[in-house]
Amino acid sequence: MSNPSNKSSVLLIYTGGTIGMKEDPKTKALSPFDFSQILQEVPELGKFSSRVDSYTFDPLIDSSDVEPSLWIRLTELIRDRYDDYAGFIVLHGTDTMAYSASALSFMLDHLRKPVIFTGSQLPIGSLRTDGKENLISAVEIATAHDSKGAAIVPEVCIYFNSQLIRGNRACKVNSTSFDAFRSPNWPTLADAGISIRFHEHAIHYSAVPDRKFQIHTTLDTRVAILKIHPGITEQVARNVLLGDGIRAVILETYGSGNAISKPWFTDILREAAASGKILLNITQCLAGEVNMNLYSTGKALAEAGVVGGGDMTTEGALAKLFVLMGEYTDNEKVKELLGQDLKGEITK
Ligand code: ASP
Repeated sequence: MSNPSNKSSVLLIYTGGTIGMKEDPKTKALSPFDFSQILQEVPELGKFSSRVDSYTFDPLIDSSDVEPSLWIRLTELIRDRYDDYAGFIVLHGTDTMAYSASALSFMLDHLRKPVIFTGSQLPIGSLRTDGKENLISAVEIATAHDSKGAAIVPEVCIYFNSQLIRGNRACKVNSTSFDAFRSPNWPTLADAGISIRFHEHAIHYSAVPDRKFQIHTTLDTRVAILKIHPGITEQVARNVLLGDGIRAVILETYGSGNAISKPWFTDILREAAASGKILLNITQCLAGEVNMNLYSTGKALAEAGVVGGGDMTTEGALAKLFVLMGEYTDNEKVKELLGQDLKGEITK
């Protein structure tokens, strides 16, 4: 239902999630409903001077079922409609929103337009829904531009509960509160109160002048995530770190990047690194960063060949690995780029 002649219009892409669900009277479980009903629930969308077009994915999904193929479809859709819209809004379930927003931040290159993910904790049809405010403010942010017509936030972001945060810095931190997302290591890009206050110093402008917008759709998903915990067995560590079909392992470590100092563990790490695997250290802490030089337990990891992930989130690191490994067959090149700030995902 688009007429892409209006360049200040927004494309609203509906993938599923609670925002568009309704309760089955018999089972009481939530399942997605038709998008036209969302528009009926939010007649305010018609009051914007910019037109809001929509595109509905088929099938609509609970975001627990998100796979990289959905990211590729989204990326290609944004590429195909890029010139026709001022910005894009992706309605998405909250459960994996931080993963999808992270993925798109790396899959879209030289982005000059906002791509805003939003959704809600309560369906848009329910009286106390948070979906209306989230959607209406997302439209306002997606069309916000400066006096020269340039987008104020040319980034992939999440707008939720009055806060705009960078997609690849976001984590879902609460399953029941409206305040569901945090960006622990980076300030908000905007806060919505009576007006929407943009924090320009925090916004990342990744587009290089004269370089055209482009997409990456080759993803290598051969990544495992190993969360270190007291009692982890040698067999578990061995299966993950030396497992077949695994090209990279994200180690979720303690504190500033520490793990078990027992020789059996460092031996496995050394063996994995020697076999060419990419080993990336991300802290289990919500905030702060990995610094493998602080403690001997961290130093041992660095010496075994583990790369420090700085203050990246696990979601951001996973997406970065998928995209970099899709692009480069050389693991040394991937390791080099992992430490660099590509899309505002790591503080340098
Ligand atoms: N399970 C839902 C989803 O992620 C939760 C939500 O949208 O908030 O699709």
